[in-house]
Amino acid sequence: MQLTDLGTIRDLFSRHGFSFTKSLGQNFLINPSVCPKIAEMGGCGENVCALEIGTGVGVLTRELAIRTKKTVAVEIDRGLEPILTETLSDLSNVEIVFGDITEIDLKKLFREKFQGEEVVVCANLPYYITSPVIMRLLEERLPISSVTVMVQKEAAERICAKVGSRESGALTVAVNYYSTPKKLFGVSRGSFAPSPNVDSAVIRLDIARENKCSVRDEKLFFRMVRAAFSQRRKQMINPLSAELKIPKEKLAEILETVGARATARAEELDMNQLAALCDAVYYFK
Ligand code: SAM
Repeated sequence: MQLTDLGTIRDLFSRHGFSFTKSLGQNFLINPSVCPKIAEMGGCGENVCALEIGTGVGVLTRELAIRTKKTVAVEIDRGLEPILTETLSDLSNVEIVFGDITEIDLKKLFREKFQGEEVVVCANLPYYITSPVIMRLLEERLPISSVTVMVQKEAAERICAKVGSRESGALTVAVNYYSTPKKLFGVSRGSFAPSPNVDSAVIRLDIARENKCSVRDEKLFFRMVRAAFSQRRKQMINPLSAELKIPKEKLAEILETVGARATARAEELDMNQLAALCDAVYYFK
């Protein structure tokens, strides 16, 4: 069964009474070259397990399962269950967990389903939860070696931008704190049914075993980064002063100690400067 064939998808839908739910980001891949590439470039192998987020009709799930020891996929839409029972029936190493990836207990899922095995995450992410899902996967420090996901093209550019460049944002800093991001390839909107209004790209985040930079207080670091980028094109001193409750004059001095001007925008500071700023704030408070 060719799961990227529109006729096959329509037939599955009509036999199982399924229709797309737009609000769940249900744009299914119909370009046959994309899923094998995600699985290959996402580090799948016979000694590795995979976690997928959002199965659709199982098109990527199949590519992951045939290459890995075990594949577990989390899918929110129970209406897909009869379809997946049919499309994955010949594979014995796949398990579908029906639930919401933003709410599910991931530590428990990893303990129960993967039992210490090496895990790669591969997914065509529903776009409405791109950032929270990526951040959850990174922040929970799960035993994952890499995350290879399709995201909106603009999100890919933001995530893979250099920290300290005009294109960077709070998400760039957060992703770079935990991993090394890389854009793998672009995917046009015509590769999906229904076709979305935007193009996409596949990115890979290689998770750092140890922190890429160290800060005294991680919570403070992310609070500070969010505030600093909240008015991206403006001086960071105003939102920082309000969030951290530090007078602007003092903040200007602290910025100078990390080699930044008092008038600097957050996008001008590199990772080491942001980390040094956080530690200077930590000691001031
Ligand atoms: N992997 C399939 C493909 O490439 O054709 C489907 C990808 S589609 C962009 C996103 C999938 O994620 C849909 O199957 C949708 O139902 C599912 N989904 C949406 N929100 C979810 C959530 N919060 N938790 C788990 N799955 C979700």
